[in-house]
Amino acid sequence: MITDHHSSGTMGSDGYKASAFPPAHLRRFEAVHVRLDAERTRLLGRLDWHLARGDHAEIPALVHRLSCVAFGRRLLSHLRPSAIKGGERYLFSSAMLRDSFTVCNETRDEGMHFILGIESDATLIGTEIVTFPYSHRSPGGAAGEHGATHRICVDAIESGHRLLAIVHSHPGSGPEANHPSSIDLRTQRLWEPGFGCIGGIWSRSGELRWFSAELEFEVEIKGTHLGPIGPNHWRLNTTCG
Ligand SMILES: [Zn+2]
Repeated sequence: MITDHHSSGTMGSDGYKASAFPPAHLRRFEAVHVRLDAERTRLLGRLDWHLARGDHAEIPALVHRLSCVAFGRRLLSHLRPSAIKGGERYLFSSAMLRDSFTVCNETRDEGMHFILGIESDATLIGTEIVTFPYSHRSPGGAAGEHGATHRICVDAIESGHRLLAIVHSHPGSGPEANHPSSIDLRTQRLWEPGFGCIGGIWSRSGELRWFSAELEFEVEIKGTHLGPIGPNHWRLNTTCG
């Protein structure tokens, strides 16, 4: 996981007590964790430095290295006793997702946004819809402006939050209009290893499908604005305000 609010600074060998690691290896893993933390701090500092100067040439390489560090931290975090077994569990408010539909469908062009959130008791809880400027937008596709999306992710990490989902809309209507395209899956493969986020796709008629590339996950939606219509598939209840 890219953020790990259970372990500020070093993880500590106590965190591994009930894990699968033989005690002889604990110090080695602790050292790896310390090194990854230091590398993340250094890379975030460099990213800030370049963003502050509007110098974007180094940013893709820095983000790639941050993603590698995040992947390493994610592997370690899964070895903790509190690691989620059998996949990630996401919890969203139906009122937030009603707003997501509005954001994604406000024009004829494809809409897109992030859902940020926090982790509590092995559940990832969506707390905020975050929009960003588009670098490209049409009825058939959209992309966020790189500097803005990276800045949002860095701010989330630094404030103890994480990216939980990338949601966008498709132009068609009906429950079959929101299957992920090959481009959607390619984008998901870029973001999923570093951030552990899932994808969501709205049809224009209010069906919302959650998907991932490799990640096992389950989604729970609290509230009455949406109802389930299939596995990871929900529909906006238009009678709710
Ligand atoms: Zn799509």
